[in-house]
Amino acid sequence: MKRAEQVTFGGSGLNRAAHIRNDAVALTEARQHPQAACILLWRGKVMVHGDRLDKLSWVTMAHPILKAGYQTAAEEIIFLGFEDDGAPSFALDISGWEPVGQDISSVGAFVDRTEQQHPDCPPGHVFAELRRIMTRLSPRDAELAATAKAVIGWHETHQFCARCGAPSEIVQAGWQRSCDACGAQHFPRTDPVVIMLITHGDSVLMGRSPGWPEGMYSLLAGFVEPGETLEAAVRREVMEEAGVKVGQVDYLSSQPWPFPSSLMFGCAGEALSHEIEIDPIEIEDAIWVTRQDMMRAFAGEHPEILPAREGAIAHFLLENWLADTLD
Ligand SMILES: [Zn+2]
Repeated sequence: MKRAEQVTFGGSGLNRAAHIRNDAVALTEARQHPQAACILLWRGKVMVHGDRLDKLSWVTMAHPILKAGYQTAAEEIIFLGFEDDGAPSFALDISGWEPVGQDISSVGAFVDRTEQQHPDCPPGHVFAELRRIMTRLSPRDAELAATAKAVIGWHETHQFCARCGAPSEIVQAGWQRSCDACGAQHFPRTDPVVIMLITHGDSVLMGRSPGWPEGMYSLLAGFVEPGETLEAAVRREVMEEAGVKVGQVDYLSSQPWPFPSSLMFGCAGEALSHEIEIDPIEIEDAIWVTRQDMMRAFAGEHPEILPAREGAIAHFLLENWLADTLD
């Protein structure tokens, strides 16, 4: 698919310079570089600014917030890479900061419209939930935010060695954890998920999970299991959830989805059968939606189906299906 990387969180070509992660001299040079700067994360939210909260906020490496001891699980600064002009980029988690007198009621919830302002940062530079602002960020800012959120989230849940249970420590500028007790090395995990545009003639298969807002439907999706190809995962998930048999499967586009650590593989699949038989434990409903109805849904004019959520790969795939630009 020619437009594959135009998806939200699509690759912006960040130079991650992995070769310096274990090079203490080069890392020190990067930290001391006059243009070096750091983005901040707090409880999974990123600091952004601008009228539309459409830009990442950067602090200099001398900013007191970096030395305030707010770090929790990811106690070290993480090296993200070099910008195109050579400026080194870092990320720091300051989840230990306690915002006094600010609304944190929905932090961590699926929908979080609250914003938190650190007193040492300029007014208007606030922590915002990434899904809320992801479509407004430039591709580079989106890649940096997704990368930092995923790596920091991994440190939060992988404090202890998975082999022997001893506490592990951060190495490789934040990209690895090492266990002193047994010598095991652990790497940030990425969980593959297939999400599929299953078509039959002029219709696409859409499903909804229990508890979703009324009228919300999306493409079927599911985790790839060990020992499975992407194609097999697509066929298995569609059969399990909707009872529809799928033939040819093609890869379309992928999307890093750091909520907390997925990599979405967008695939197209050709349905060989039309009748739907849902698994009520997995999904609440599945329907075939014609191209015409999907266009109405995208325009917000369909009486029963809401438009797909912008920024998610489901929206991107459906948009390209409607525009006939899946090739
Ligand atoms: Zn160990």
